[in-house]
Amino acid sequence: MRYQYWDEKTETMPRGELEALQLDALRAAVARALGTTYNAPRLAAAGIRDSSDIRSLDDLRRLPFTTKHDLRESFPYGMLAVPKEEVVRLHASSGTTGVPTTIYFTRKDISRWSSNMARSIFASGCTSADVFQNMITYGIFTGGLGLHYGAEKVGMLVIPAGPGNTPRQFRMMRDYGTTVVHSTPSFLLHVQSKMIEEGIDRADLKLRKAFAGAEPYSEDTRRRIEALLDIDVYNSYGLSEMNGPGVAFECQAKDGMHLWEDGYLAEIVDPDTLEPVPDGTVGELVLTILCREASVILRYRTRDLTAFYTEPCACGRTHRRIHRIKGRTDDMLIINGVNVFPSQIEEVIMSTREAGNNYLIQVEKEGALDRLTVKTEVGPEIFMDDARPLNALRERIRHALQASISINPKVELVESGSLPVAEGKAKRVVDTRPRDV
Ligand code: AMP
Ligand code: ZN
Repeated sequence: MRYQYWDEKTETMPRGELEALQLDALRAAVARALGTTYNAPRLAAAGIRDSSDIRSLDDLRRLPFTTKHDLRESFPYGMLAVPKEEVVRLHASSGTTGVPTTIYFTRKDISRWSSNMARSIFASGCTSADVFQNMITYGIFTGGLGLHYGAEKVGMLVIPAGPGNTPRQFRMMRDYGTTVVHSTPSFLLHVQSKMIEEGIDRADLKLRKAFAGAEPYSEDTRRRIEALLDIDVYNSYGLSEMNGPGVAFECQAKDGMHLWEDGYLAEIVDPDTLEPVPDGTVGELVLTILCREASVILRYRTRDLTAFYTEPCACGRTHRRIHRIKGRTDDMLIINGVNVFPSQIEEVIMSTREAGNNYLIQVEKEGALDRLTVKTEVGPEIFMDDARPLNALRERIRHALQASISINPKVELVESGSLPVAEGKAKRVVDTRPRDV
């Protein structure tokens, strides 16, 4: 395969040069953080009063971690490192507690983010000849505008479609000859189900690639989307605290996501001890954004669980790859004392051919015990009134789940299209257990 680079010099930079560049950028980031009301005292408490206190990249470990809690505490402007006149945009993620975590951008920050995005999009093999339908939420969520600016930079024809309304999506795909789409994996699966329901002929569409991100999904889900829609799916990772998408992205080798290390310093730590784990071991990703002028965030605990690849990539890029996100530290369910990641359940459903494209995980109290129910839509070729194959399928899914998660769940099969579909991130888990038990 011939790989194409957006910025070959940076993307294939020898590690030594890359690390020298990171050290300079880290010093500059620390200098900016020292100028903020929230970070200056915290850094001073860690013995850092001047950027010259950072002598090597190892000194990163002397810096305090930043958590979502810090972002809320410093809301709205405690971490802003430039005068407000220089800020041209903000994005926020509201999370669950209501106080938004807000990130600010100068014009340069937007430009840098767009370049990272362009680099990511180009790495997937797209060019200015592509027609890009951005089927993800626009607005204060970073996914819409992030990919939008990057795709424009590449020179693609961008359709700012936003999510939802599948008949309109199909119409646009046909009318404009869309070749690339961007969405959550769950919405892509929904699109495929709708395609069948609405009798859309795949041969009328020019689709060839999709970017899927914003929520965890398994390799089985990727394979399912690729097979059903006959496209290449590229994993896109990011979080609003680190700009949004464009933190890590798959290249055409489609084997892990390159984390753009000229823009981010990445660590993977044990979430309990906060000590680094050996390369290749799963832990919590911690990110420092290196070149952002407005919102400086050092050592942000993402809560996302992943591991570094230990081998270099076939594409020649020197920026390290991370594995598909396994889940979040706060995603894990404890069911009758057993740890269960929703991704384990997803893997089983998505690798079962007759299972449909949507599912829901319910956890409730039944007496003293926890009860896990997995509701799964069935594929279009399964008839709901034919009890025998339905029972056999239910039993097969139940066995596979039990083998994977060591818990015997209740499995309910429901009609295709009957479970809720979110326009943004899918909400797959409904846990009604009382909180303090
Ligand atoms: P937000 O800040 O609202 O954009 O949410 C960011 C979070 O979405 C990340 O911390 C991840 O938990 C999740 N996320 C984003 N992209 C991916 C991806 N490709 N795979 C798994 N999880 C993702
Ligand atoms: Zn690669």
